[in-house]
Amino acid sequence: MIFQAVSLHHVRIPLHEPFRIANGEVGVKDAILVAATTDEGVTGWGEASPMSGGFYSKETPESTWQTLADDLAPALFAMGEIDPVRCADLLAGYPREPFARAGLEGAVWDAHARTIGEPLWKLLGGSAREVPSGLAVGLYPSIDELLAAIARELPRGYVRLKIKIEPGWDIEPLRAVRAKFGDIPLMVDANASYRLDEHRATLLALDAFDLMMIEQPLAKEAFVDLAELQRSLRTPLCADESAFSPDALDVLIEQRSVRIVNIKIQRVGGLHAARLMAERAAAAGLGVWLGTMPELGVATHQGVHLATHPAFTLPSDVHPSERWFVDEITAPPVVMSSPGGIAPQEWRVNDDVVRRYGVATWRFEP
Ligand code: MG
Repeated sequence: MIFQAVSLHHVRIPLHEPFRIANGEVGVKDAILVAATTDEGVTGWGEASPMSGGFYSKETPESTWQTLADDLAPALFAMGEIDPVRCADLLAGYPREPFARAGLEGAVWDAHARTIGEPLWKLLGGSAREVPSGLAVGLYPSIDELLAAIARELPRGYVRLKIKIEPGWDIEPLRAVRAKFGDIPLMVDANASYRLDEHRATLLALDAFDLMMIEQPLAKEAFVDLAELQRSLRTPLCADESAFSPDALDVLIEQRSVRIVNIKIQRVGGLHAARLMAERAAAAGLGVWLGTMPELGVATHQGVHLATHPAFTLPSDVHPSERWFVDEITAPPVVMSSPGGIAPQEWRVNDDVVRRYGVATWRFEP
């Protein structure tokens, strides 16, 4: 493939309710959609999906847009004849911009799949199987509101429940969730909000709740402390923010810092790196699952295709579109194909929805 044009579309779609984690709160989903057109006239779509305000990471919609327009789109044209893996290798020269890389690479994979008429899952080594969908809920002002949110969402059939925790909001909500929802498969995500020296007693107390895992209890680069905590716990630890690159994953494996890894396509810079990291983690005996930002339909559909790969062994954070967003940019939206399962689908971008929620567009031709 040779690419002849790239368009960017910044869209902002409101969430049904604000999503709060240990680092902050968002009420609107920002995404930079990337449309890349080949010399054969095939357009592939990708999605760069940073959260506004550096909520999860330092990348923002504005910085991601800038990188795509100034660096990555010109780089794509300079590549000449390419396939998705070679594109991913060349984009790895921009290590500080994983979200922008994920967006552009997603467009190249999509163009490739559409050009040869194969489903993305096949190109990524997956299958047509359903991906198990786990419910994630944010932080709430009260335990009653937390329990009500879970009770409202669970009937869709999710296969496990994840609640967010932070210092001061951990043991009590867990006790309440166990009391109300019994032995439901349950996990917690701390988004790096604890310190081992300061919160050791609380972290050890989490072992009593029979959790599937404790996701990212400590800081992003606390590899050694994570390993020490893991040795003290029966419950598996899971890396999210810490698994920011293939090299970081190698450190986590060598140090035995965690037993599980959450692979986020946006955080690691695209589908190719995500697949390699999932394969490497699985080969090292780690449990693997697909996390989300969450993203809109383009990146979520592509993520579902990737998560059918056999390296992904645990329930994903992939939700139906209607769980988060008041509208969706793809047709069809992401839906459960059976209770708790999401099958990989063919999809297209709905131009009307992109226009309705668009705040900026830009087109580049060499
Ligand atoms: Mg997480």
